[in-house]
Amino acid sequence: MKKQYAVIGLGRFGSSIASTLFEAGNEVLGIDINEERVEKFKDCVTYAVVADSTEEEALKAVGIRNFDTVIVAIGNDIQASILAVLVLKELGIKQVIAKALNKRHGQVLYKVGADWVVFPERDMGERVAHHLMSPNVLDF
Ligand code: ATP
Repeated sequence: MKKQYAVIGLGRFGSSIASTLFEAGNEVLGIDINEERVEKFKDCVTYAVVADSTEEEALKAVGIRNFDTVIVAIGNDIQASILAVLVLKELGIKQVIAKALNKRHGQVLYKVGADWVVFPERDMGERVAHHLMSPNVLDF
């Protein structure tokens, strides 16, 4: 079934989530503060808009409240990522998923209401290690 997702931050991580969801037939709103990023990924999502996700009014203006699931894929600007999660939860978004750079960042994201925090490098490292140890993997 077709679902609606908003992805905030169209870096490598966010754009990969957004385009995968879009290619699978979902409606995807991509948001970035950087106009060049929005231009670059406009054909990989349903709609792409420039907005600062730390501004409640800006998020309201792009219709964020119509989305049940929002992914905050901002990493380096820790303050912006925390503020975005806080604003999204205050706006009543049901499921907010956020990327964390490190353990402390992740703890704060959960404290401000994130429903699921992902640590891309750590999580991927674990997956690769488990994959290597799986009996079906050929040595190379
Ligand atoms: P990645 O590691 O996924 O490639 P990156 O290295 O480009 O990301 P990040 O700082 O994690 O850098 O930012 C991801 C994206 O989030 C960038 O495209 C950036 O413009 C965007 N971004 C940063 N702050 C905001 C904000 N306040 N509102 C919306 N988008 C933002």
